[in-house]
Amino acid sequence: MIPVTKPFLPAEKEFKGYVKTIWERQWLTNNGPLVNALELKLKEYLGLDHLLYVTNGTIALQLAIKALELSGEVITTPFSFVATTSSIVWQGCLPVFVDIDAETFNIDPAKIEAAITPKTTAILATHVFGNPCDIEAIQAIADKHNLKVIYDAAHCFGVRYKNKSIFEYGDISVTSFHATKLFHTIEGGGVFTKQPELLKKMAIMRNFGYSGVDTFSEQGINAKNCELHAAMGLCNLPHIDSLLQKRKKLYMHYLYRLSKLEVRFQKIEYPDDYNYAYFPVVFKSEKLMLESKEKLELAQIYCRRYFYPSLSALPYVKNCAMPVCESIASRILCLPLYHSLATSDLDLIARMLMRIQNFDGNRKEEPAHFSNIELPQIALKINNHRINVN
Ligand SMILES: *Cc1c(COP(=O)(O)O)cnc(C)c1O
Repeated sequence: MIPVTKPFLPAEKEFKGYVKTIWERQWLTNNGPLVNALELKLKEYLGLDHLLYVTNGTIALQLAIKALELSGEVITTPFSFVATTSSIVWQGCLPVFVDIDAETFNIDPAKIEAAITPKTTAILATHVFGNPCDIEAIQAIADKHNLKVIYDAAHCFGVRYKNKSIFEYGDISVTSFHATKLFHTIEGGGVFTKQPELLKKMAIMRNFGYSGVDTFSEQGINAKNCELHAAMGLCNLPHIDSLLQKRKKLYMHYLYRLSKLEVRFQKIEYPDDYNYAYFPVVFKSEKLMLESKEKLELAQIYCRRYFYPSLSALPYVKNCAMPVCESIASRILCLPLYHSLATSDLDLIARMLMRIQNFDGNRKEEPAHFSNIELPQIALKINNHRINVN
């Protein structure tokens, strides 16, 4: 069986080493030493001044919306995980969808201004599959209209943008450390901001609003994470560079194997600073995608329809037409990609996909609408990896 993803697990004895110290201290949660150590190590690794480790990525989104005191309408993307939209609604705001760019899968900045009304307070955008949004364009619009910016950077661990961690952008960025994400603490999340007041406010909100003994300066929630989850993070972090390397090689291998297939890949503008967290492919039609998915499942290869359906079709939002998103969402499939995926399994997946589309693999000409990723150029940048093209 080949699943779409597999969580990385450290050696059991590494985790047990931390567990032993937890038993010795009998300090289980409430800003314990392992939570502190993880926050420190993450800041070092990511090159950030500030970070708050929280329960999960969804709570992180809710904290961000609450801390910025958003109300009214929040402009957002219809192509993301459901938590991006549900958090907006949960916080009592109205999500206003803006369609995506067909190549990057991110919110299309050119369409944002038309959606702004006097009630708009913020833009909440997702860096889809870790691919950075057009951050400059979004910030320029936000500055012009006095809007806050939140980034759902749940897929972005390790991604850098213009020589900085992607988590540094926007008023607040949030991420998820869920088991299915590239770096995980089983359950967990993070919030990031460069604004000291906001950081302090969220730190207080994370802990019921406590600002001192018997003092509550903010309306709070319980968004603290615990020592056991932090222990998992401390075990996983030292492995992250090797995991990123492995994913990048597998991603490139997929690109080569599927280069003749009539599918489109996500346009990745900054391949050197990318984390290769997912391998999405867009088929020519939904029918072809479903046929491919079903045939792979017969061979016990499980892909996922990330993201389907368009969030603009959720039952608790005002439905609206998002043609680009709906088109991509209906045809996209994420192929299996995880650190321990064997190259031979990847080859099998690629061969099956080629066969489903009746390719013999020897066709010379490129499909007309091939991705603008410069395959050979990227591949040249990978050290020690010979790709067998045949
Ligand atoms: C995973 C994910 C979330 C939610 O994170 P959790 O830690 O599972 O709550 C939010 N947004 C996106 C884009 C995600 O992929």
